[in-house]
Amino acid sequence: MATKGNGKTYQWLLDHKDHDGDYCLIWPFYRNPNGYGQLGYLGEYHYAHRFMCDLVHGSAPSHDHEAAHSCGNGHMGCAHPKHLSWKTRSENLLDCREHGTQARSCNGNKGRLTDEQVMQIRALKGKKTQDEIAFTFGVSPPTIRDIFLGRSHAAPSKIKHWKPEEDEQLAKLLQDGLTHEEIAKVIGRPWKAVSGHAARLGLKSRRGSGGVLLNAVAGQSLRD
Ligand SMILES: [Zn+2]
Repeated sequence: MATKGNGKTYQWLLDHKDHDGDYCLIWPFYRNPNGYGQLGYLGEYHYAHRFMCDLVHGSAPSHDHEAAHSCGNGHMGCAHPKHLSWKTRSENLLDCREHGTQARSCNGNKGRLTDEQVMQIRALKGKKTQDEIAFTFGVSPPTIRDIFLGRSHAAPSKIKHWKPEEDEQLAKLLQDGLTHEEIAKVIGRPWKAVSGHAARLGLKSRRGSGGVLLNAVAGQSLRD
C-alpha cells in the first residue's frame, strides 16, 4: 500500500526508513490514545509503525501478520525501522510476554492503568506536565491528555473493578435469593457483569445451586 503518497507524515517515514539510531524512534505526529503513531493516508488512518514496516520489509506476508516491535515500545510511539518486523499475532504476543512490563500494552491499552492510577493522574493535573506524568506512569503523553480531557477512562465503568465490599454485597444478595438481574439494579452494574463476577467468585444464586442440586440428584439416580 505504501507506494505513493505525499504530506509531511508520509515524507517523514520516507526520510527515516534507513534510520539507524540506537534508541527508539518516536513518531512525532499524532498518536492515538494507546500511544501508537497514526497518519492519514488516502483518506484513512493507518498505523505509522505498520506503514514503516511496509516500507522497509514490503507488504505483510498475510492478514494475520502484525508489525511487531522488537523493543516493545509500540505504545510509546516507536517507529524505528530496525525495531520492526512482520510477525504473526501469536509470535507477537509471545514477544510481548518476554518484554515483561510491556506485556499489557501489547494487548491494548485496556487495564494498563488502574482506576486508582487514573485518579492519581487527575490529581496531578496542573502540578506536573503531561510528559512528566506520562513518564511516571509509563504511558504515553496522549494517554494523559485524554484522561485530563475525560476522553479515555471516562468509561472505565465497563471494566470497573469490584471492590471487596461489593463482593460481600453480591454474596449477601445472592444468599438473600435475589436474581442476577435484581442485583444488577441494586448495585448499578449490567447483569452480565454481575453473573460473570459471581461465576468468577464461585458464587451461585439460589436458582443456580438448585440447578446444580438437581443435576447432582439426576447424576446419582443414573448411577444408582
Ligand atoms: Zn523501538
